[in-house]
Amino acid sequence: MEKNKKDKGNIRKIYKYFLPSAFQKYKGYFFVRFGLLLVNSIRPFVNILALPMIVDELLGNRNFERIMHIVIFIIATEFLLGILGGLFGNLIERYTTKFENYYKMVLSKRIMELDFQLTEDKKALDQIEAAKTGMSWYSGGLNGIVEPLFNMASSALTLAGVTAIIVTSAPLLLVVILVILLFAGYVNAKRNVIEQKFFAELSKENRITGYMGWHLTNFKYGKDIRLYAAKEMMVEKWNYHQGIINENWSGMGVKQLPLELLLALSDVVRDFGSYFYVGALAIFGKISIATCTQLFSASGTFYNSMRMLVMNYQELCKRANYAYEYVKFMDYPAVMQKGDRHIDKDREHIFELRDVHFSYPGSDVSVLNGVNLTLHKGEHLAVVGLNGAGKTTLIKLLCRLYEPTSGEILLDGVNITQYDYDEYMELFAPVFQDFQLFAFSMKENLVMGREADAKGGDAKETDAKEADAKVADVLTKAGLAEKIASLPNGVETVVYKHFDSEGIEPSGGEQQKLAIARALYKDAPVVILDEPTAALDPMAEYEIYRQFEELVKGKIAIYISHRLSSCQFCDRIAVFSEGAVKEYGTHEELVNIEGGLYAEMFGAQAQYYYG
Ligand code: ADP
Repeated sequence: MEKNKKDKGNIRKIYKYFLPSAFQKYKGYFFVRFGLLLVNSIRPFVNILALPMIVDELLGNRNFERIMHIVIFIIATEFLLGILGGLFGNLIERYTTKFENYYKMVLSKRIMELDFQLTEDKKALDQIEAAKTGMSWYSGGLNGIVEPLFNMASSALTLAGVTAIIVTSAPLLLVVILVILLFAGYVNAKRNVIEQKFFAELSKENRITGYMGWHLTNFKYGKDIRLYAAKEMMVEKWNYHQGIINENWSGMGVKQLPLELLLALSDVVRDFGSYFYVGALAIFGKISIATCTQLFSASGTFYNSMRMLVMNYQELCKRANYAYEYVKFMDYPAVMQKGDRHIDKDREHIFELRDVHFSYPGSDVSVLNGVNLTLHKGEHLAVVGLNGAGKTTLIKLLCRLYEPTSGEILLDGVNITQYDYDEYMELFAPVFQDFQLFAFSMKENLVMGREADAKGGDAKETDAKEADAKVADVLTKAGLAEKIASLPNGVETVVYKHFDSEGIEPSGGEQQKLAIARALYKDAPVVILDEPTAALDPMAEYEIYRQFEELVKGKIAIYISHRLSSCQFCDRIAVFSEGAVKEYGTHEELVNIEGGLYAEMFGAQAQYYYG
């Protein structure tokens, strides 16, 4: 009972979610489905109505010509309906792929928009996996959830017709068929329950094997896998988890087998019962031979349509439960508070961190322990400290990738949670330590679609020209002009070789320069460089520093570095230790604090570098 209610609820929810968007996207699909519905509903009646005519003719006048007319009518109608059915089926297959791609794209978009914090949340990750598989092969996608509905409508139409035929000649036959149907429906429901339980249990395993598969084949991990001989370990792990999946599959098969046999048996009982009853009616002269033939055919159709109705409903419930995983993910509750306040772009921004504490989700370890910091427009702040002091975490909080556990971050005196999230994100151009480039052209890696579609016609062309000039400018500033000039395809050169044999594998330093150029291209009011020069050679590093003032002039710049000598370029230095700002001031001030952390680190590094 409970389950029934839940099923109905899910069906309602998935239709409410999917039907409007599907109809808007591909209306044609629904017209084709309707056409197929009519074909499928009419089809069984060709035989039911025509066969008794042939029998009557054979038992009566035996007019060969008339019999041939009937046969030709049957064949021609079957042929026409068959062709129409095939055509509609073919079109539906094409729509199925289109829908699959469309909803995959919608899902990917949602995954990309997901609160970043949730990307480490096991429950959210499992939900993503359930959404992916649930809306693909488990439910059959959009077509998978719409098909049973149309099949049910078609069965209902057919049923109405054959019921009328049976009720007129042999009403008891209906009772025989209905009893067996109830039984078959019950058995099938049990079968579905087993499958759904299996689906729920395997979500995690599917995710793990997916992860293993990704690492095994992604060239990004190629060097580490080879040099640390990790292949065997990867394959072993993959086999282990795949083994669990396989075991589950066979376990499910074994559990379902007796039920499959019961279903086959119910078919036999139904045939026997119908033939026995209708045969007896004919033998005792209650019905004519022609009606007897018609009833055989009608009872088969009734049973099949009824069974199809029940099975399709059950199939729909099952598929709806799978597809509902997609809807659940699309509605996954946000963990971030997002406001709608607009950011005044013209004012001189001030960021203020007040007693900010933070622990990563699912962890009790306090990473930030009461950070207080203020940043004014044009200010350049260096953040230094030992590994694990919480420097990067601070940046992640400032960029709203995570929420503080307590305390607040204010922009122009207002808590950042109150601002429109996208507008807030526009304020930052960070280069993270683990930045990623994409297997697109260099230009695309810089522009990231920011200029595209903004305007049409001439304006778009002007924009494109401006974008090209800006790309060239930031690449020069990041020290990549020479490199680009040496490439036959220039800025159109594709990064990595995944899709283009002419693509390049940029060195670590070149990748870092590209990432810096991307940040410069965004031209945001706050530039954040987290270990920006770690992969650069001393000359390139010097160049970046030399230009640094120029590059971030008038902007807030936060600069995390282990190379303390480079911090002298900044107005202020915040020294992080154990998740809090322990020292704060200019280089001159800090280096003169007796026994201070900065003085100690600077002394150690100066000694190391300059002997
Ligand atoms: P820093 O940038 O100063 O080297 P981080 O801010 O990267 O330090 O890290 C501070 C602490 O937070 C470290 O102990 C690190 O292990 C932990 N940490 C970083 N990222 C995560 C995460 N996603 N989940 C849990 N702990 C994390």
